[in-house]
Amino acid sequence: MKSIFQKYKYMTPKETSANGHAQTFEGGREWEDMYRDRWSYDKVVRSTHGVNCTGSCSWNVFVKNGIVTWENQNHDYPETSPDMPDFEPRGCPRGASFSWYMYSPLRVKYPYVRGELANLWREARKTAPNALAAWKSIVEDPDKAKSYKEARGMGGFVRSNWEEASEIVAASMLYTAQTYGPDRNFGFSPIPAMSMLSYAAGARFMNLMGGACLSFYDWYADLPPASPQVWGDQTDVPESSDWYNSGYIITWGSNVPQTRTPDAHFLTEVRYKGTKVVSVSPDYAESTTAADTWLNARAGSDAALAMAMGHVILKDYYIDNPTPMFLDYAK
Ligand code: SF4
Repeated sequence: MKSIFQKYKYMTPKETSANGHAQTFEGGREWEDMYRDRWSYDKVVRSTHGVNCTGSCSWNVFVKNGIVTWENQNHDYPETSPDMPDFEPRGCPRGASFSWYMYSPLRVKYPYVRGELANLWREARKTAPNALAAWKSIVEDPDKAKSYKEARGMGGFVRSNWEEASEIVAASMLYTAQTYGPDRNFGFSPIPAMSMLSYAAGARFMNLMGGACLSFYDWYADLPPASPQVWGDQTDVPESSDWYNSGYIITWGSNVPQTRTPDAHFLTEVRYKGTKVVSVSPDYAESTTAADTWLNARAGSDAALAMAMGHVILKDYYIDNPTPMFLDYAK
């Protein structure tokens, strides 16, 4: 049997000095190859993260045997104008670790349904003549309806399959259209910035059903919902670098360093020009760290705060003292 020193050659002392307190070894560094292999690659491709992120940061993606092994920010964006800060550095922690998401065993690959609803549905489908009748038997039974609605927000999803999930969605939409009218169905389709095809499919479906298509901001709210609600366009407004041209900024409903990481530097850079930033946030959020004033409205009260501000503007500048600047802008 080999001794531990024979087995692990690198542990074999080669030279001893300092009265035995120091030992010099040779070789035995093969284990380092594991780290070199981890970062080795056979090609580099340029990409970004089209997963519902409009950051569009430029990345070098290192690939080995068809597997993404790691990624690194590229930094060759052109300058936009000499009086504006560069767009770079861009990127965020989610993007920097994206190869881990791609191959994560936790990645969602199947449809999931809340456990309570799945049980009710599977039971109902055994006897109901069709999917619509099965859905009706659940939602029109107060105890059954309460049991799955009460479980919302508690987790407990179970794996389903596409056929079952599609049936539940179809039956519930049909039931709502028949019972309350087609315009009671509200839907959201993946953003066109991610995929025109999937956006068009969902939007057209809602359109043909007679339902209403929500704006994307209603859904994920990482940028102000008021903009598309008022103007009807998504992001067809000055983009983030234009923050650098502002004299006064209110951050509200958007935690810029976290939800708009690659553009957050424009918010801090403009402060060097003297721009004042007010953060409306119940907690001391990341965006609050870049603010001069923190308006920590109590959670849930910010709608009232916004309405009060709107009231003051309307009363002071449109009714009591009609002001051309406000009137002309609104027109
Ligand atoms: S913001 Fe993050 S996820 Fe989005 S493109 Fe940039 S690095 Fe990728």
